[in-house]
Amino acid sequence: MLKTLLSITITCLLCSTTMAKKVLLDPGHGGDDCGAKAKIWHKKKLNIICEKDLTLKIAKEIRKYINQSKRHTAYLTRITDKAVSLDKRSKMADHIKADIFVSIHLNATTNKSASGFETFYLDNHDDVAVQKVEMVENKDSSGEQKEINSILADLVVERVAPQSKRLGQSIHDAISTKLQKRYKLKDRGLKPGLFYVLALSKRPSVLLEAGFMTNHSEALLLKDQWFQRVYAKNVARGIIKYLDSNTNPNLF
Ligand SMILES: [Zn+2]
Repeated sequence: MLKTLLSITITCLLCSTTMAKKVLLDPGHGGDDCGAKAKIWHKKKLNIICEKDLTLKIAKEIRKYINQSKRHTAYLTRITDKAVSLDKRSKMADHIKADIFVSIHLNATTNKSASGFETFYLDNHDDVAVQKVEMVENKDSSGEQKEINSILADLVVERVAPQSKRLGQSIHDAISTKLQKRYKLKDRGLKPGLFYVLALSKRPSVLLEAGFMTNHSEALLLKDQWFQRVYAKNVARGIIKYLDSNTNPNLF
């Protein structure tokens, strides 16, 4: 009996070890690249809040929740306020042998009433509205590099699109109910998007837009520590659920 119990324990320990996956979290922007800006008045003083600072805080919270699970391990493409090229960010995925790549961003548009959260998974599409978001987030990729990236993107997308969609669905399901019920935020949906940082990572990957920096009340919420924690906790839940249920062998 003892021998059987020991054998089961050892098997399960091996089981959980082999199933553990690596997640590379990518806080958007950094250094000179502020990303989207929010203008918030506080005590008659105008404060400019940068997307790069909020994405770093949110990504660190997601990492904390994933690592606390002790089932999988999360890493960051940057841990301080520094500029990292899209190319370098994606190369880190190879370096740490990441299973999935999740980029965190905050939205911006000229329409100040635009609001809500959306989740993009790596795939081709012809949606004009999505192309506007891509233009903002792909702007570090230009010229010759952009041509190379386009070819690479097509090849990678074909291989990882179905798993990227499943990952995106799992995260979006986890955040959707919570953000709509608790914060009355608009669900803008799960959409295909062609972001170079995702394609270059060559992994199942998603890009999150947590809300609009250009919407005043949403910007106030995005900079709130408690909101950041709730958002991060649910993103982590979605990632863990995907990794736990993903029986497909590692693509790389
Ligand atoms: Zn961004």
